[in-house]
Order: sequence, then structure tokens, then C-alpha cells
Amino acid sequence: MNLILLGPPGAGKGTQAKRIVEKYGIPQISTGDMFREAVSKGTELGRKAKEYMDRGELVPDEIVIGIVRERLSQDDCQKGFILDGFPRTIKQAEALDEMLDDMNKKIDAVINITVPDEEIVKRIVFRRTCKSCGAVYNLIYSPPKVEGKCDKCGGELYQRDDDREETVRERLRVYREQTEPLIQYYSQKDIVRDIDGTKNIDEVWSQIEGVLESIRS
Ligand code: AMP
Repeated sequence: MNLILLGPPGAGKGTQAKRIVEKYGIPQISTGDMFREAVSKGTELGRKAKEYMDRGELVPDEIVIGIVRERLSQDDCQKGFILDGFPRTIKQAEALDEMLDDMNKKIDAVINITVPDEEIVKRIVFRRTCKSCGAVYNLIYSPPKVEGKCDKCGGELYQRDDDREETVRERLRVYREQTEPLIQYYSQKDIVRDIDGTKNIDEVWSQIEGVLESIRS
């Protein structure tokens, strides 16, 4: 199964992607995670990406397309993959189509998780992420058992630099302007499946599971 997870920042893409990985055994390709890893390792890619990320802007298409092309060519993607946070512009979507054509593959479904802006701001500003394993918490909706520590691995929880309110509003503006047009792009291919992202994590998951079971059969 080759999937795209679409939706504004904070819609729950990362959380749901992890459930898809667990159930279907296909890798999550999160360009945001790849950039954050590069930033924490202090690589050249990380240095370039950080500038844009801290402003809530998109990293230039050529950079993102390059890292996704390389990632999709790896062995673990041959049975399927979940793209999380890519594509984010029409140019990236067109580049993805070309890559997939070359590999004789296609996208089976675009899971479009919808959530209104004000709800997003509340979710992201209270979001905390584990430095070690990437698990995500929300201080209001799903707090960790011990303040500041990850339930799963005991790692330290932190607030992503780009999760502050001003940056979140900018990321939402960028999403509506540059990424939302992708819904139209993929609707023409008749592969968009809308998911109500305002429900709780389990309810959102059961909607997604329903879609994935229907495309598998
Ligand atoms: P995310 O974790 O998906 O919210 O991504 C965090 C940040 O990484 C974004 O705000 C962008 O600055 C950058 N980024 C991640 N994926 C992409 C992409 N496909 N195109 C451009 N920038 C991206």
C-alpha cells in the first residue's frame, strides 16, 4: 500500500502514521522528522532546513524532493510506504508522480485529515515531543504520566521550536495557501479519502482503518 497522509500541522498525521506502521508493517516517511534529525546531527542539510523551519516556512522544493527520492529507493519501501508531510506543494506532487512512474508504482490513497484552525492552534501549542523516541503528547488531551518524561522510553519531553503560537499560525497560513490545493490535485485522480480529525485518536484511527481495509480488499 502506498499512502499519503495529508492535513494541517497538528492534525494527527504522525500519530496515525505510527499506527499504520504497526498494523501494516510499511515505513513512515516523515520529511519533518528527517529534517529534525538532520538539525540535531548538525549536518549541512539540517543547517539549511532549520532556517526555514524556525520561520514556519517550507524548505525549498528541490531539497525536499531530493531526500524523498533517495528514501523511496530504499529496500524497505518496496512493499509500500506512508508519506507524512510530503508532498506539500503542487511542484512536490508532480515530482512524486514522476518518481513513482519511474518505479512503476502509484499512490493508492490520500488520507486527508481535516481539523479547523483554532483547534489546531490549541493542540500544537500544548504539544510536547519526546527527544529520544519521537512520541507525541498533549499537556491537555494526552499528558504524560510523569511531567516532562516520556511514558514509553523515559526520554525528555520538549516543545519543538516551530510549535510556538506565532510560528503555528504561519505554518497554518502556508498550509492553506500551498498544501491545501493538493486536495484538488488528488481529487482529480479520485483517491482522496476525507477523515474527520476532530474526533479522539481511537475514533480517527478506526475511520482510517476502514479506508485502508477497503483499499486492500
Ligand atoms: P512537520 O513535522 O511535517 O510539521 O514539518 C516541520 C517543518 O519541516 C515544516 O514546517 C517545514 O519547514 C519542513 N518540512 C517538512 N516537510 C516538508 C515538505 N514536504 N516541504 C517543505 N518543507 C517541509
